[in-house]
Amino acid sequence: MRKIRCPKCEEFVRFEESRIEPGASLILHCENCGKNFSVKFKSKEEKQSIDYTYGHVIVIENVFCEKQIIPLQLGENLLGRRCPGTVVSSPIDTGDMSMDRKHCIIHVEINKRGEIIHKVEDYDSLVGTFVMNEILQKKEKRIVEDGEIITLGATTLILKKGAPEE
Ligand SMILES: [Zn+2]
Repeated sequence: MRKIRCPKCEEFVRFEESRIEPGASLILHCENCGKNFSVKFKSKEEKQSIDYTYGHVIVIENVFCEKQIIPLQLGENLLGRRCPGTVVSSPIDTGDMSMDRKHCIIHVEINKRGEIIHKVEDYDSLVGTFVMNEILQKKEKRIVEDGEIITLGATTLILKKGAPEE
């Protein structure tokens, strides 16, 4: 079974994943608010077309969410808990209320040597942003290396350079 958040009321809706063809759409019914909504499953080609030039973030599965892979763009990537009405470039589907709707920025920059570097900055969040268990100071931009851990509330993220491994 997999679960996905209802876009109307944010409750989890469970469904059986095994029969779903990649690239197909599925209509789901939310028991909580009674709305129907459709979910599109990415085909293999669509998954391959995601640009991972600037790396990605792995959201580790916990009691609040499933594992997620979030591609990063050059420039500013604003991360936070997905919530209707709040627009961030990199929303995370989670019920972790200790994660702000706008929690931190990952800056993707190219240095003088032409290398892609990642810097994390807290977005004035309630509980702060941690890199390798150290809290970031106000306005601090901390360089994060491949495989290092960023903590937003009760949620753990791993920064990765390049594309996800199969
Ligand atoms: Zn609902």
